[in-house]
Amino acid sequence: MTHSTYVYDLADGDASMRALLGGKGAGVAEMARLGVPVPDAFTVTTTACVETMNRGGEWPEGLWEDIEGGLHRLEERTGLKLGDPERPLLVSVRSGAVQSMPGMMDTILNLGVSAETVPALAKLANGNERFAWDSYRRFIQMYGEVVEGIEPHIFEDALAAMKVDRGVDQDTDLTADDLKELVEQFKKLASDALGGAWTNDPKEQLRRAVDAVFQSWQNPRAEIYRRANNIPASLGTAVNVMQMVFGNRGDDSATGVCFTRNPSTGAKELYGEFLVNAQGEDVVAGIRTPKPLAEMHEVLPEAYDQLIATMNRMEAHYKDVQDMEFTVEGGQLYLLQTRNGKRTAAAALKIARDMVEEGLTTREEALKKIEPAQIDQLLHPALDTSHGATPVTTGLPASPGAAVGGVVFDADVAAERGQNGEDVVLVRFETTPDDIHGVIQAKGVLTAHGGMTSHAAVVARGMGRPCVAGAQGIRINPAEKTLEIEGKIYHEGDVITLDGSTGEVFGEGLPLVPPQLGEDFETVVGWADDVRRMGVRANADNATDAAKARELGAQGIGLCRTEHMFMAADRLPAVRRMILADNDDERAAALEEILPMQQADFEGIFEAMAGLPVTVRLLDPPLHEFMPDLVEQSLLVQRLELTGGDAAELEQARKLLGSIKKLHEQNPMLGTRGCRLAMLYPEIPAMQARAIARAALAVRERKGETVDVEIMIPLVAYAEELKRQRAIVEEAIAEELQAAGQELDYTVGTMIELPRAAIVADQIAEHADFFSFGTNDLTQTGIGISRDDAEGGFLGHYVAHDVMPRNPFASVDVDGVGGLVKVGVERGRGQKSGLKCGVCGEHGGDPESIEFFESAELDYVSCSPYRVPIARFAAARATL
Ligand code: ADP
Ligand code: MG
Ligand code: MG
Repeated sequence: MTHSTYVYDLADGDASMRALLGGKGAGVAEMARLGVPVPDAFTVTTTACVETMNRGGEWPEGLWEDIEGGLHRLEERTGLKLGDPERPLLVSVRSGAVQSMPGMMDTILNLGVSAETVPALAKLANGNERFAWDSYRRFIQMYGEVVEGIEPHIFEDALAAMKVDRGVDQDTDLTADDLKELVEQFKKLASDALGGAWTNDPKEQLRRAVDAVFQSWQNPRAEIYRRANNIPASLGTAVNVMQMVFGNRGDDSATGVCFTRNPSTGAKELYGEFLVNAQGEDVVAGIRTPKPLAEMHEVLPEAYDQLIATMNRMEAHYKDVQDMEFTVEGGQLYLLQTRNGKRTAAAALKIARDMVEEGLTTREEALKKIEPAQIDQLLHPALDTSHGATPVTTGLPASPGAAVGGVVFDADVAAERGQNGEDVVLVRFETTPDDIHGVIQAKGVLTAHGGMTSHAAVVARGMGRPCVAGAQGIRINPAEKTLEIEGKIYHEGDVITLDGSTGEVFGEGLPLVPPQLGEDFETVVGWADDVRRMGVRANADNATDAAKARELGAQGIGLCRTEHMFMAADRLPAVRRMILADNDDERAAALEEILPMQQADFEGIFEAMAGLPVTVRLLDPPLHEFMPDLVEQSLLVQRLELTGGDAAELEQARKLLGSIKKLHEQNPMLGTRGCRLAMLYPEIPAMQARAIARAALAVRERKGETVDVEIMIPLVAYAEELKRQRAIVEEAIAEELQAAGQELDYTVGTMIELPRAAIVADQIAEHADFFSFGTNDLTQTGIGISRDDAEGGFLGHYVAHDVMPRNPFASVDVDGVGGLVKVGVERGRGQKSGLKCGVCGEHGGDPESIEFFESAELDYVSCSPYRVPIARFAAARATL
C-alpha cells in the first residue's frame, strides 16, 4: 500500500471505496484493477474535503504533503514531471462526489502547461504546435475562471475579438500563431484581473486547484442539486488528479460519452456521442453538438471496437447500465469515468425487466436500482399522438416526455415563474449546470446546442424533465427575448410544445393525455408487491379517487375524510342548519337531511373498493370551518345596518354573526375538533355511523360484497374519549342492523396524532381495534409547530441552514415524531398483541419515510392515489 492519510494511488482503490474516493475515484480505480486502460491518477479523499470544510476552509495538517507524495509517485510511474521543460506531466484536477452530481462541481484540465512546457508538449504530440498552444489557452481560461474566479467574459471577449480580427468563424480555424498571441493576451488579462496575483508555479496551481474543487462542493448549483436530490451536504467531494490524455491532438484523437443502454427508453442499443480532435468538456458541457457514436466506427475503427467490448464488460461487471467517458489519443483508447447511468423511470423499468430476463441480475437486485420517487414520472401527462400537428423544428430527443409552456430565456425567470405555478419552457443557447434552478422549475428545456450526453441532458433525464437539445434550426436572442424558428418569431410567454421522446418542437400548445403505465411497470411492480411486507392503501374521499387508487394498486383506503362531504355546496346549508340549531329537534332534523347525502358518498366509495378495507374517519375539523368568515360576516351586518335594508335579512345576518363569534377559537387546530366535537354533539358521530352502515349494506345488496368497514375516531388523547365514542358508534350501528335485519362486521379504531395518545397508547389500545398514525398532525403537535405558519416562515431558514435536515412535513422526523410512532406501536401492541397499525398522511407516500415505517413494523402505509405506485416500490425497497 502506497497511500497516505488523505491520498490514494489509482492502484490502491476499488469500487467498494466510493465513500472515501468518491464515485469517480472508485470507478476509475475499479476499471484500472480490471485492466481497462485508464490514465494514471491519485485521489484526494472526501475526508480531506470534509475536514477542510469543518476547519472553515483551512487544510488539515499533512494534506499538502500527502498530495506532494501522490504527485511524486505519479511522476515516477509516468516518467514525466510537473513543470519539466523536457518531459512535462499534465494533469486534470477533477471533482468526484460519492453520489454523482453531473457537472455541478468544478474540474480543471491541462494543469502543468506553461510557457516552459509548451515546446515539449508540442514535440510529444509529433510537432503539433497548434495543439500545444490551444491546450495552454484553454488552461488559462479554465483555471482563471474556476480557481481564480475571473469573469468568463473577459476571456470570451478576447477570443471573439481574435476571431473577428482573423476573419474566421470557428475556434478551430485559429492557427498556432494566433493561439500563441491569444495566450499572451489571456495571461495579461488574467494578471490584470488579479492585480498581478496570477501564479505560474504549477505546484502552487495544483494546490489552488484542489482547494477550488473542495470549494465547488459548496457552490450554489451544487447546493441546489443536492437539495433537489436529497444528498447530505456533509459528505464532501473527493478530488482526482489524473494524467491528461489528449483527444484534441489531431484527427487520430477524439473524445466522447457513451451509455451501455439507451437511458431515455431503456432499449439495449448503442447510445453515445463523440467529437474528433476535441477535449471532453466540449461534449459534456454542451458547447458543441457532437456526432452519433456509430460514426466513430468509420474514423477510429480499432478504438471503437475496443470501446464496445469495454462497455459490455463494464455493464456485466456492475450489473447496471454504465455511463462512460472516454478519450482517444493517437488511436489509443482511454476510459476516464464510469458510473451507473442516470435514466428515466420508463428506462429504469425496462432495464430492470430486461436485465432479469437476460439473467444478469436477480429481481431483488433489479428492484434495488429503481428509485421509487422517480416512478412519479410515469404518471405525468403525455402528448396526445392523434394531434396531427406538424413540428416547426426537430432537435435531439434528450429527455422524453411532453412539455407545454410559455418560452422564457433565462433560468432565473424560469425558476421564479415556475415556482409561481406558471408552465414555462426554458429556451437556451446551451444549458450549463448554472441553469439547474431553472430546469427544476420548468416544464421542459429546449437548447440550440449540445448533445444527448451533455450534463444538462443527463440531469434533465434524472429529474424526468423533458428536453430537446441541439435544435439547430432555432435562433435565440436572449437580449431581445425572442426565439426564431423557420422565420417565425416567438416572444417571451408564447406557448410551445416539446416532445422529448422524438425531439420535435411545435409552435403551439398541444393537448396532453393521461399516461399509460405499460407492461414493464406491471411486471416490475409485481416483483415489488411480492417482496414487500407492508400494505399500501390510498387516501381517498370520493368514488373517483377511490377507483383511481385501486387502478394504481391500492389495497384499500387508509383514510377517507368525511369533512369534504360536509363542505359540498349542496349540503352546506343543511350543515349550517345543524350547527345553528337552537334545540335538539332542530339539530336532529338537519342531521336527517345530511345522512342520505353522506350515505350516497359512502356507497360510491365502497363500490369502488368492494372487497377491500376502508377506514372512514369521522368528522375532524372544528365547526366554524363550515361557517362564513368572521370578518366578512361582520362587514355584511354593517352594510345592512347602514343601508337600512330588509329587517328580516339583518336579523338573520346578526344571528349568524353571533354564532360565528361563539364558535370562533384562537387556536382551532388545538380546539374543539375531532372527537372533542363529537363528545359535545354525539348526534354527529351517530349520524355518520348510521350512514356508513346503511351504505355498506346497500353495496352488499347490489354487488354481493362490500368493504371491510373500519371506523376511525380522530384526535383521541384520552382512552375515555375512545371508549365513549366507540359506544356511540356501536349503539347507532346496532340499531341500523336490527332495523335492516342484517349483520355486518366492522371495527372501530383511532387516529394516533397527539403525543399524549402515543404515550398512553396501551390504555387507548384497550378500546381500539386498530391504530392509524396521523403523522401530519403528529408532526405539528409533536414538534409543536403549525404547518401553515412554519412553511411560509422559519422552516425554510431551518432547512437551508441545516438546523433540520429536511422539511418534517415532507419526510418524517425520524428521531422525534418517528420516536412517538415507535412508542405508540410498542405500547399499543404491548396491550393488544398484533394490533393493526398503519399510517395515513403525506408521509405515507414519501420513500424515506416509508423506509422508517418498515423499521417501525407498521402494517401498511396510506397515501394519495398518485403516490401509490411510488409507495409500492418504496415499501419493497425498504425490505431489501
Ligand atoms: P464532471 O464532473 O463535470 O463530469 P470530469 O472530472 O468528468 O467532470 O471532467 C470533465 C471532462 O473533462 C470529462 O468529461 C473528460 O472528458 C475531461 N477530462 C477529465 N480528466 C481528463 C484527463 N485526465 N484527460 C483528458 N480529459 C479529461
Ligand atoms: Mg464527468
Ligand atoms: Mg389530523
